[in-house]
Amino acid sequence: MKIVTVAGARPQFIKAAAFSRAAAEIHEEILVHTGQHFDANMSDIFFEELKIPKPRYYLGISGGTHGKMTGAMLAGIEQALLAEKPDWCLVYGDTNSTLAGALAAVKLNIPVAHAEAGVRMGTLSNPEEVNRVVTDHVSRLLFTPTDLEKGNLQKEGIGNNVYAVGNLMYDSYLYADGLQTDLRPAVDFDNRPLVLPDRYYYLTCHRQENTCSDKPLLEIFTAMNELDAPTVYPVHPRNKERAARLCREHGFHRIRLIQPVGYMESLKLLKRCEKVVTDSGGLQCEAFFAGKQCVTVFDRVIWPQTMAAKRNQLARADARDILNKLAASQKIDNTYQPFGDGHTAERMIRIMEENMEG
Ligand code: UDP
Repeated sequence: MKIVTVAGARPQFIKAAAFSRAAAEIHEEILVHTGQHFDANMSDIFFEELKIPKPRYYLGISGGTHGKMTGAMLAGIEQALLAEKPDWCLVYGDTNSTLAGALAAVKLNIPVAHAEAGVRMGTLSNPEEVNRVVTDHVSRLLFTPTDLEKGNLQKEGIGNNVYAVGNLMYDSYLYADGLQTDLRPAVDFDNRPLVLPDRYYYLTCHRQENTCSDKPLLEIFTAMNELDAPTVYPVHPRNKERAARLCREHGFHRIRLIQPVGYMESLKLLKRCEKVVTDSGGLQCEAFFAGKQCVTVFDRVIWPQTMAAKRNQLARADARDILNKLAASQKIDNTYQPFGDGHTAERMIRIMEENMEG
């Protein structure tokens, strides 16, 4: 089986790593890196740590408007697909790279397999939701993390070729347990190593909804600065200037801004922290895997499974609301684990083999 995999953003590298490991040696997999995330600590480090094969195609497309970025990717991916003529085009999650990969392939009559299909927030005002919906509707195989997303697809009339296979993030999470963790320690904006406090909260924030003006981040920082322990925040490049300026202007001295960290370091920060505050889809799942209480600063649920027993709670981008949600300690039942068994990738490969054309 020949597979062209399209990836371009940090969470996609983490998911792609699990699939590539399972596919290696049996199948031919060619990676197209769109370039959506390109900094060394948003891209290279994941290839290095998770031993992802080098991309054959690197498109170098990032920034600009959604349309400009997606259009350029579409053209670049089309060239790669025409040259490779794969049996499958595999796309992950919900970024512009996902959408561009799916559209390029379906127009060439190359079947699309979508990993993390059926995830829904329920509003097209969220840019990732547009990518999810369109990708699902043009995919030949839809791999959902659980039955819940299968139900979402059914409501949209997609009933065939949908398989609940587990969550690739969980495959990677379990795999990472056996890996070396000290490859690239966290550093601040001046490249000084982070001295990890004994107790701290782990914050990530990067969604368009929370980074389009000062207000949401200011509310989040105000909440974090009032907590009983410092906050460690690896800042997404999109937010770097704003985060540094707000900390300076408002004297948020309990917030430690650091550069984005690699996957292993992110898991280390997660496992040792008190609680997580995030707007990341991936990190709220990982908090759930790790049994850490999480507050998600967003107005919609994306992973309802993680909300069980208030282990993950939504908060508005409002300091009081965030503090209120953080205040209560939740009981965590770690036996509830709906995201598979760490063998999602193997299941996907078997289903792709069984559904080959011709
Ligand atoms: N992550 C990372 N380094 C960081 C922050 C997050 O490796 O500095 C990891 C995190 O552990 C999770 C993934 O990146 O595995 C989540 O990606 P992101 O938040 O960029 O995207 P989303 O999941 O919201 O699509």
